[in-house]
Amino acid sequence: MAEILVLGAGMVGVTTGLALQARGHQVVIVERGVPGRETSYGNAGLIQTEAVEPYAMPLAPGALIQIALGRGYDVKWNVPGLLSQVSAVWTYALNSLPAGHRRATLTWGRLIRQSTDRHAPLIAAAGADTLIRRDGYIELHRTPAGMERARITARRFRDDFGVEARLLDGRALRALEPAIRIEVEGATHWSDTWACSDPGGLVAAYASLFERRGGRIVNGDAGDLHRAGSGWRVDETTGEHAVVALGPWSPMLLQRFGLTVPMVFKRGYHRHYRIQRPPHHPIADFDNSVVLSPMRRGLRIATAAELTRHPRLTPPQLKHGEKAARELFDIGAPVEAEPWTGRRPCIPDMLPAVGRVPDQPNLWAHFGHGHQGFTLGPVTAEILADEMDGGQGWAEMNPARFKR
Ligand SMILES: Cc1cc2nc3c(=O)[nH]c(=O)nc-3n(C[C@H](O)[C@H](O)[C@H](O)COP(=O)(O)OP(=O)(O)OC[C@H]3O[C@@H](n4cnc5c(N)ncnc54)[C@H](O)[C@@H]3O)c2cc1C
Repeated sequence: MAEILVLGAGMVGVTTGLALQARGHQVVIVERGVPGRETSYGNAGLIQTEAVEPYAMPLAPGALIQIALGRGYDVKWNVPGLLSQVSAVWTYALNSLPAGHRRATLTWGRLIRQSTDRHAPLIAAAGADTLIRRDGYIELHRTPAGMERARITARRFRDDFGVEARLLDGRALRALEPAIRIEVEGATHWSDTWACSDPGGLVAAYASLFERRGGRIVNGDAGDLHRAGSGWRVDETTGEHAVVALGPWSPMLLQRFGLTVPMVFKRGYHRHYRIQRPPHHPIADFDNSVVLSPMRRGLRIATAAELTRHPRLTPPQLKHGEKAARELFDIGAPVEAEPWTGRRPCIPDMLPAVGRVPDQPNLWAHFGHGHQGFTLGPVTAEILADEMDGGQGWAEMNPARFKR
């Protein structure tokens, strides 16, 4: 019997395995597919140190009207998609009011600021240095008002969290990113964030490191999890403890063990495009609700949030993002026949679930990292591993909050 089964081999599951292993535990990861091929594959590849505030739901009247009317590209929805998660969306909206958002930020900011320190030793040990750039990303501002808001945000993030940022006017931006071919008002260079050119490849490299250090990854369906004495069994694999790290699939499993976890599933899309002169850094163009990341496969255009049960074949957010990207860069044909899609696992209080599952001895939760799970996997993995070794854990992330 293994000591610990970790269910799911995304960024969160694999780094959980590594953190527990580093503390001397014998760990088996159970994955139904291939490590790092789901949500952790499809993201924008940012290991963020500047995202000190979790994503709140846009609540300004203008933004809400845009969303309701289906205009704008930040949040798209359809009726079945919204109805299937209406209660979680409502709670998310309430928590996005200033008091709730401030509360979440207190925890979130402390997590985010540890991200590169936690990834650094793993990247080195996994031999994955060639996948990482350590010189930040660029957030474009297309209007003077946007530039002014950026100045205020950068100052606040520096004063409250020590975040490094450089404000660039149009000329400085052109000097840093000569491939941009239109005039842009300016940009923020969030300089201590890191960028990964192959997010799935980084998870795969971490998974290989886990195996080299003596861990096992087995193919299996976590949906089969059941009790075996005081421990757990999935197919033929048994363990004294089990950690649920199934990203957006976690609530479905935990429902069977008496825990209802509210979750907003924010669908995102990406597609790669051929490009001769890519930008040097990822470019966030939030006015057009896209992030453009130079990746191994081409320029990855990643979209914002869509509340739909089923993916669309021609997502309007991607179509719009492609138009904006073509305005900025000289871009060729798409690399893939169809876009990739996945769902960000967002808990309405904007904090992940990390810790003991209530009323289920030896069952642990580690999921719900929303927009920043690629960044935060190794950070919260360390917190969970410490709690499993008898530490206190972080009360605000404890899954017992879903019972209250
Ligand atoms: C468009 C987009 C852009 C993003 N950009 C960023 C970014 O730049 N930076 C950032 O930090 N985050 C970003 N994110 C968020 C980030 O990708 C997620 O928070 C993170 O990948 C979640 O990781 P995870 O390990 O929890 O889930 P996953 O990566 O989905 O892993 C879950 C694993 O569980 C496995 N699994 C599921 N069901 C079963 C089962 N029954 N049995 C066995 N295995 C199972 C799956 O196969 C999968 O491997 C983005 C997300 C999207 C969609």
